[in-house]
This record gives sequence, structure tokens and C-alpha cells, in this order.
Amino acid sequence: MKIIDTHTHLGTSRQTDSVHTEEIWLSKMKRYNLDGLLSYPLPSPYPDAPTMHDRIHKFANDNPGRVWGVVDINPIVDEDEYFKEATRCVKELGFVAIKMHPSQEATNPLSKHAVKVFEAAKMLNVPLIVHTGPGVPYSLPCLLIPRVKEYSTLRIVLAHAGAFLFTDEAIIMAKNFDNVYLEPSWCGAPQLRQMVDVVGIERLMFGSDGPLNVGPSIAQVEAIDMTDREKELYLGKNAIDFYGLKI
Ligand SMILES: [Zn+2]
Repeated sequence: MKIIDTHTHLGTSRQTDSVHTEEIWLSKMKRYNLDGLLSYPLPSPYPDAPTMHDRIHKFANDNPGRVWGVVDINPIVDEDEYFKEATRCVKELGFVAIKMHPSQEATNPLSKHAVKVFEAAKMLNVPLIVHTGPGVPYSLPCLLIPRVKEYSTLRIVLAHAGAFLFTDEAIIMAKNFDNVYLEPSWCGAPQLRQMVDVVGIERLMFGSDGPLNVGPSIAQVEAIDMTDREKELYLGKNAIDFYGLKI
């Protein structure tokens, strides 16, 4: 059984005190038998997104078949700049998805300037991961409804699945739209049980969102009595297939 952490960050944030290094992640991979992880810049990376994308690319190159990059560019930048950097990351650096953080990047998913994010993911044919939960109203899962309908062929992951407080909304989204997937970091075991029962294991992917969350998040699969098949899909296989990871 493979374990893939689909939500990790690398680097230093300009907004929070977060500092996530390669060494921290490699030690967590060893301790918790992670077979791989998706590595994103933090939403306000120091010094800037392109520099962090290059650092993530090096991290991936140093750990082939174990680390994959995810693009995160603040959508406030001009459209040309956004597309150029997103294209460089996916086409040249081999990144597997694009991430958007509505609250920390001050981007209402309904706004005009958010359109470039959805267009870039569609054009580059990669899934779009959108933070949901803390930071309302921009981070409310329901604000994605018009985009999910408009971009019906784009696979959209609700990161944190509403993060406990808005998990019912995230579940309603996944139940109503086939192109919505859930990554339940920051949700409790009862919410994960609810997602398995209501949405189905095929649309769920494990993510921690931080080194201190890896152990507790993995422990949830035992707490809710997942079957061996459910563990295999949720912890790794779904993500390997969904992101096309060569492992
Ligand atoms: Zn995150």
C-alpha cells in the first residue's frame, strides 16, 4: 500500500511563522512511511513564487518518484505573468497541479481576476486545488459552484474539505458535481467518516497540510475503521491515478 501526502508546503511564509524545510519533510516521510508527497509553495512565499517553484523542482529532482511540485502564484498578478509562470512549472518543471488560496491570496473565486486560475488549469490540463474553510467568505466551498459548472471538465479539489466548520458544504459540492474531489486535512475523524459514507472513497485523497499533522491524519483511518481497500485508495492509490504520479 502506497501513502501519498497530497498537501504539503515548502519554504517560508511572509504572512505566518511557517517554515517548512526539505529536511523536515524527508524526516516525516521516513517516520510515517510516506511513499511520496505533493509540495506547494506557501500562499505568500519568501522571496517569491518563481524562486520557490525552482526550489520545489530541485526537491523533486533530488527525490525522483517521491516528490512532485504544485504551482501556486498569487492571482493578483497580470494574466500574462500568471500564464507564463504556470506554463513554465507544468511544461518545463513537470508540476502536476495548480493551487489557489482564496483568502490568503485575496481572491474571491467569483471575481474576474480568479478566471485566469481556472483558465490556466484547463489549458494546462492539470487539476486545480482550492483552499476551503478558514478565511470566509472567500474560502466558502459554495462560492466555487459557478466555476465548477462553468469548468465542468476541470477536476477541482477542495483542500481541507471545508476544514470541519464547512465540511457539510464541501460534501454537498462533491455530491452534486462529479468534477469535485475532497482532501480532508484539518477535518476530524467524524467528518472523514461522513465523507466516506456520503461521497465515497473514490473521491477522497489524503493530505496533511503540515508536518505535525501527518501522524494524526494517518491515524484517522484506523479511528474510523476504514477497510483495507478504503485505506489503499484514500492514502495513496487515488492520488497516484488522479495526479498521474510516476511512482
Ligand atoms: Zn496548505
